[in-house]
Amino acid sequence: PRLANQIAAGEVVERPSSVIKELVENAIDAGSTRIDIEVEKGGTKLIRIRDNGSGIDKDDLPLALSRHATSKIITLDDLEGVASLGFRGEALASISSVARLDLVSSTDDSGAGWRVIAEGRDMLTQVTPGPHPRGTTVQVKDLFFNTPARRKFMRTEKTEFNHIDETFRRLALSRSDIALSLRHNQKPVYNLPAGNSQLEQEKRLASLLGRKLLDQALYIDVEATGLRLWGWVGLPTYSRGQADQQYFFVNQRVVKDKLVAHAIRQAYRDVLFHGRHPVFVLYLELDPSVVDVNVHPTKHEVRFRDGRLVHDFLFRTLHRALAEVRP
Ligand code: ADP
Ligand code: MG
Repeated sequence: PRLANQIAAGEVVERPSSVIKELVENAIDAGSTRIDIEVEKGGTKLIRIRDNGSGIDKDDLPLALSRHATSKIITLDDLEGVASLGFRGEALASISSVARLDLVSSTDDSGAGWRVIAEGRDMLTQVTPGPHPRGTTVQVKDLFFNTPARRKFMRTEKTEFNHIDETFRRLALSRSDIALSLRHNQKPVYNLPAGNSQLEQEKRLASLLGRKLLDQALYIDVEATGLRLWGWVGLPTYSRGQADQQYFFVNQRVVKDKLVAHAIRQAYRDVLFHGRHPVFVLYLELDPSVVDVNVHPTKHEVRFRDGRLVHDFLFRTLHRALAEVRP
């Protein structure tokens, strides 16, 4: 089974940033309001994620590390409109098969908690006492220590940290209601308080993407036919040569989707210079039952029940906004 985990890890755990994505998503699913991330050497040496979520029961601890163990769906019907970010029960098993994993958790405010440790193929299912406030801390050391072929695919510390930075930005933009921090080699990189007002969200946006984007963007918030689109659209004058500041979220998860990309491109078509890319941070909200966000574990594609309706709404909303600010 450990070998199966290592094979599965090939899909879920590509590099340090993918470990962070999975662990932070777990913390989000656990209802955390604060998540602190610490990494060393671009995450290759250490990744530590502490949350103040629900925690994991002592009896469920060994289970959490085993493959296909998820607490998030109970029946096949739950798959329809699943609200949690994870539901496959693969992440912790996969990560622990290719790293040294140490998890401490507590479900109450007594200060007492429980710990499990897993190192590569050797899983110590023994659960020992470990102090912890309500919530969970997962520590992942020496990623790919036992899979040299995979280790070779990791790049320099700087490159791996850039991936982590990007993953962090997406997660932080997806949930401004959660306080988040990131430290690299003991130095603070981001420290973002929680806040849902437009002002607080703009502060977070500026911390993550720079003040300039905000000054060069239009804020929109439009609702029609059960769809709401809000966020920041970069002015045509602020378009860039690289597609590096494009964030689109559907019901609080980041999405990279052809239909969405096409609608946005069409809307910008008349106002962009050739070879330029629009800049945007946009949030689409719609009834979860009319969108399937779990098409693939890592590809961020979505399937809308009425793709045409969504496409037209995106195109028309953005086109109208851009027409007003056309240079
Ligand atoms: P999935 O997220 O797909 O369910 P994971 O392997 O990521 O699978 O996690 C396995 C299980 O461990 C989760 O279903 C959840 O019950 C528990 N779990 C993992 N991380 C946390 C956390 N930070 N807080 C609370 N529970 C957690
Ligand atoms: Mg998960």
